Amino acid sequence: MGSEFELIDQAFRAASPSRWPGTEVPNGDDASVHACEPGTAWVVSTDTAVCGVHWPQDFSLELAVERAVCTALSDLAAMGAEARLVWASAMAPDAAAITMMGRGVSHVVARFGLELAGGDTVRAQTTGLNVTVAGILPQNTAMRRDAAESGDDVWLAGRIGFSAMGLEHWLSGERDVDMVSAFAEVEPLLATGTAIRELGVRCCIDISDGLVQDAGHVAVASGVQLHLDLGACEDWPELVAICGEHHAVDLALAGGDDYALLFTAPTRLRDSLAGLARRVGDCREGRGVVVSLAGKPLVLPAHGYDHFA
Ligand code: ADP
Ligand code: MG
Repeated sequence: MGSEFELIDQAFRAASPSRWPGTEVPNGDDASVHACEPGTAWVVSTDTAVCGVHWPQDFSLELAVERAVCTALSDLAAMGAEARLVWASAMAPDAAAITMMGRGVSHVVARFGLELAGGDTVRAQTTGLNVTVAGILPQNTAMRRDAAESGDDVWLAGRIGFSAMGLEHWLSGERDVDMVSAFAEVEPLLATGTAIRELGVRCCIDISDGLVQDAGHVAVASGVQLHLDLGACEDWPELVAICGEHHAVDLALAGGDDYALLFTAPTRLRDSLAGLARRVGDCREGRGVVVSLAGKPLVLPAHGYDHFA
């Protein structure tokens, strides 16, 4: 391996052709330049993932990096955006790790037809990746946290609790792919996000830090109370069968890392949304979140994932 720039070229640039017609200046210059389409808005989000915090030390670095890019894309899905561009800033102690990270980034970029528009590569004791993603949508159509209204249905696309279960299995030494894949393989629900936005959904959040905490963000921002029925969530009986009801409740309420989409919609959209998500509750006057199982309200955890708690 030669210079830093050869390393960058080999790890990142070679695998990121310009795929976006709006790109005037692609990756490789001091900055990239992208035209704005009339009537559309850019949606931009950034996330950082660090070894030992966001993935276990002994986890595959390539997979960890794929995960990191996918979790960033999940934020675009929650806004209803079509993903377009990615910036990836990598830090690692050695060139081999950077090469591995480049492979992970390239896989996801290719899988979703995105363009790696830039990034940074630095040496550091810790291995980590900052990912910035940008997508587009028609102006004034983004799905937000503050747009739920009393009387709306609450919907959930994707499963909750399984990722936390997969991580627990990994940490206990389990290496069976089926048991850990829910943690290892994040699927950003981009197609679902744009589909529900096009149907008229205006309020959505992705569940990254646990159902109760993220549903709570919608409740606070919108000034409503969310009522959720855990039993109505996708594959709930399967989670209970694997880890028992008591533990399944803990994982689903506060486990985190699910990257499911929680959204609210007026009841007139029920028929059109039925194939895209599960209806799991409703919004009422009031504040906070109520989650019940078999008709009984559950005692909720004080908080979900919190880096500084
Ligand atoms: P500058 O000194 O202009 O900030 P750098 O030396 O950091 O640029 O990087 C040189 C070029 O390589 C830039 O165009 C940058 O976008 C690209 N690059 C560096 N690291 C990455 C990465 N991890 N992913 C994608 N592109 C990268
Ligand atoms: Mg420069």
